Amino acid sequence: MRQVHSFAAGQWIAPGSGARNIASAITGEVIAQAGNDALDVQSMHGYARELGGPALRAMTFHERARMLKALALHLREHRRILYDLSFDTGATQADHLIDVDGGIGTMLVFASKGRREMPDARIYLDGPPEQLGRHGQFHGRHIATPLQGVALHINAFNFPVWGMLEKVAPTLLAGMPAIVKPATATCYVTEACVRLIQDSGLLPKGALQLICGGIGGLLDHLDCQDVVTFTGSADTARKLRGNANLRDNAVRFTAEQDSLNASVLGPDAVPGTPEFDVFVKEVQREMTAKAGQKCTAIRRIMVPDDHVEAVTKAVTARLAKVVVGDPRAESTTMGALSSQAQKNDVLAHADLIGQDAERVFGDPDTFSMAQDKGAYLPPMLFHCADPDTAQHVHTVEAFGPVATIMPYRDIDHAAHLLNKGKGSLVASVITRDPEVAHEITLASAAFHGRLYFNNRDSMSEATGHGAPLPHMVHGGPGRAGGGEELGGIRAVMHYMQRTAIQGSPELLSAIGKQWIPGAPETTDKSHPFTRTFHDIALGDTLHSDARTVTMDDIETFAHFTGDTFYAHMDEDAAKANPFFPGRVAHGYLLLSFAAGLFVQPDPGPVLANTGLDHLRFMKPVQAGDSIKVRLTVKAKTPRNEDYGEVRWHVTLTNQDDEAVAEYELLTMNAY
Ligand code: NAP
Repeated sequence: MRQVHSFAAGQWIAPGSGARNIASAITGEVIAQAGNDALDVQSMHGYARELGGPALRAMTFHERARMLKALALHLREHRRILYDLSFDTGATQADHLIDVDGGIGTMLVFASKGRREMPDARIYLDGPPEQLGRHGQFHGRHIATPLQGVALHINAFNFPVWGMLEKVAPTLLAGMPAIVKPATATCYVTEACVRLIQDSGLLPKGALQLICGGIGGLLDHLDCQDVVTFTGSADTARKLRGNANLRDNAVRFTAEQDSLNASVLGPDAVPGTPEFDVFVKEVQREMTAKAGQKCTAIRRIMVPDDHVEAVTKAVTARLAKVVVGDPRAESTTMGALSSQAQKNDVLAHADLIGQDAERVFGDPDTFSMAQDKGAYLPPMLFHCADPDTAQHVHTVEAFGPVATIMPYRDIDHAAHLLNKGKGSLVASVITRDPEVAHEITLASAAFHGRLYFNNRDSMSEATGHGAPLPHMVHGGPGRAGGGEELGGIRAVMHYMQRTAIQGSPELLSAIGKQWIPGAPETTDKSHPFTRTFHDIALGDTLHSDARTVTMDDIETFAHFTGDTFYAHMDEDAAKANPFFPGRVAHGYLLLSFAAGLFVQPDPGPVLANTGLDHLRFMKPVQAGDSIKVRLTVKAKTPRNEDYGEVRWHVTLTNQDDEAVAEYELLTMNAY
């Protein structure tokens, strides 16, 4: 029998008093034991705070992102260990791809976003600076720094790997250590994953700990620097939310709980259209992947009145082809539920749904595997003829292969039924009608964490109703728990404190490692284009000579480029325009002149100009005006082994020192 250990304060701790038996979902036999009432959770908290937190916070976002990437690649190399163990949870090989590969993929996305969207620094800048004083000597901006406690992640049984990695990746990227507590039923898979992570030696001490079994009094030790995330049932969420210490210390608490996700067949998606076929396919897939034990699975199937029969027939035909059985067998397309307890729970909930709806497919009593020791169930499809008065179809989540078809009259009615879920993780709408998409969004987005639209145009690339992507927010209001996870860098922010900082441009530049106008400029060095990435510093500035713009320049540029817009060519027409005093120079001519004024033409460390951001033309320039440029190093971001990106603040001014254009220039500079 497998002894599932916890990993606490640097030690693997075997099960002890209070340990629980864990049975295989496919044989019903006890295969493992986990839990130890004597686990010293207070020491774990201290260990994370004293060792893990400081070590992670000493790293930059890019260093943490590289660590995540290495970790993900290490897990990918050893993922077979996780596949092999996961069969006993009832999951098929296709399910492992969602849990194991999905978790690793999520980690890789955070690694990549950390490098691309966060600075190689320890303070994250949240938005641009705001000028608060009239003369530019007092600014404000928002920054984020890692919380100095520990993130306690309590997870559900259905995704023992993804459930951990999707939370741990943004936590570590933020610079915060984590304690993971998987659901006991499948914790042996999570334990194996944590062993792989620890054996890799890639994480600093204290960055990740594991509790298999109960968490003891850990919630009572947390404070404002800690975070609790919970994924599981509404009942447990309610219990945890009620913890007096969490409440008294305003400890951040996020819950992802039950959800009655729905899919709507658009009125235009009549039988015979590609949309109709996509709808039927997605419904069947969502009902049977992970044996329906997915928080995002489709529970309610909403169909225009006229098409209920056609949809029922088509979904039933697909469900009839589903092969339920031993998840190890290649022919199996739907495995077992995670435990007998889970199976009984699903049956009890299906009975409640049966009070509102008629079962049209899948009888658990006559099912060929009804007597098997494994936790097998057939997919069960219900039809609810009157979803407006139904008691249970909008409130009871049967966390298994169970869904209910219901009719709707028009889009308002469909939206009304969607919202009767009182807050869901996701709703999908299969339509090609832009008006339907717009109307449903207006009526129902507020009740959903994610809206997924699909049709013939997107179906070849669409990622699936039920797939929470690291790039997109996962979570939902109300019944779904009111929490939010994932969503790119938004997820990282859950483990950081946003702070408004106010002060002089010099201090704000030093804090954020980003030069802002008004901060000191360094002008006495050689031309910045002649210096390498490492040799240029924030605030290094070049003031160019002035250049007078002539009418001949404007004419030449107009005819050379073909841009003979009247504002550049016709004095009277230009004057009639409220923006121009008469013929003006092209904005792009000014940019070209600016480049001519600031470049250093010889081969050197500047390898390429890769773009412009935030370009604004602020004042027209006419023939006879003269322009000059100020070019200042605003920020530096290493990109790879050979070069990094330099962001330059560029201001063009006229002979009266008035700004006529402003932008940020991006170059790649060799180290
Ligand atoms: P659960 O019974 O609520 O358990 C969830 C987690 O909470 C488990 O790790 C469990 O540990 C732990 N737990 C239970 N009581 C606790 C306590 N007093 N203190 C600390 N931890 C405690 O839920 P489940 O049966 O595992 O999961 C099924 C539910 O999860 C479904 O309702 C489903 O909708 C929901 N779910 C939601 C999402 C989402 O993202 N929204 C994702 C997946 C699942 P033990 O196992 O040791 O009891």
